[in-house]
Amino acid sequence: MAILVAADFTPEEWAAWWPELLAALPGERLVRGRTSVPDVPDESIDVALVANPPADALRGLPGLRLVQSLWAGVDGLLADASLPISVPLARMVDPGMNEAMAQTALWAVLALHRGLFCYAAQQRRAEWRPQPQRRADEVNVAVLGLGQMGCATARRLADNGYRVTGWSTHAKTLNGITTHAGPASLGQVLVTAQIVVNLLPLTAATRGLLNRQTLAMMPRGAGLVNLARGAHVVEADLLEALDSGHLGHAVLDVFHTEPLPTDHPFWRHSKVSVLPHIAAQTDPRSAARSAAANVLALRERRPLENVVDRFRGY
Ligand code: NAP
Repeated sequence: MAILVAADFTPEEWAAWWPELLAALPGERLVRGRTSVPDVPDESIDVALVANPPADALRGLPGLRLVQSLWAGVDGLLADASLPISVPLARMVDPGMNEAMAQTALWAVLALHRGLFCYAAQQRRAEWRPQPQRRADEVNVAVLGLGQMGCATARRLADNGYRVTGWSTHAKTLNGITTHAGPASLGQVLVTAQIVVNLLPLTAATRGLLNRQTLAMMPRGAGLVNLARGAHVVEADLLEALDSGHLGHAVLDVFHTEPLPTDHPFWRHSKVSVLPHIAAQTDPRSAARSAAANVLALRERRPLENVVDRFRGY
């Protein structure tokens, strides 16, 4: 049996991933790309470890029993026509990434709450003007999505004193966090949220969810933090909400087109902070171990972890 590693890694990324994968999967035969080792026939490949795999990388592998994503989000993979329907797809879950996401969200919420983007603008104008200060428990933060990243983020924000409301598909009970579930409750969540942190997966139900209508539900001056996927936000509607003064500021880590085109209005917008999709980077050291755990489960005929529900899309 052999494990195919199909990824669009740069040479530097291969140099970081390859030794970690070899170390995490001792005794396994790893193949880098379909043609890299001619004496490994396609029939012998039973696992594919993938990160933005090249087109058709997963087609024609009759022995395939597990596709393990090396990335947390699987929206791109689910749109790949070569992904075999009958083979389980597992996504990356890594506590290190959840921690990184919680840190990024806390930084963005603190910066919005304490007016730090406003003070940075004032500094550029050499303007000395203190703004009124609010306590954290006077700030309502809504976290959309209470999965791996959303839960870690909601907890971190609540631990820092914020009034946190979480929104998910299914009802949840989380200590110290108000929760709502289902589409009918979204308006209730947004209407009081001075800051919204988006940590939803990109699915048919969530694409374009942050649009003119839903952004208008947020209170005047509210902040938006999008750390999930660019396509959750209708970019023209967000620009309109910022330009009209309805929204105060947006912190954006993800975009419809990445890298963000140099002529995109977000780059130079005074109410937008742009990050280059770094909210929670995959760390090959821990991610390789997480992927290897699922390969071991397959080998030992134990249930696989973090299997994606293709119907719901996450
Ligand atoms: P996850 O564990 O799959 O959690 C998804 C959460 O969203 C769940 O709580 C789910 O509800 C909820 N949800 C899904 N569809 C919904 C809907 N239509 N309405 C309401 N709630 C809905 O996802 P995750 O691992 O936390 O990842 C969150 C996002 O972060 C993804 O978009 C991922 O691509 C992105 N991400 C970004 C970066 C970065 O660096 N920017 C890094 C990694 C991941 P239930 O719990 O009730 O099912």
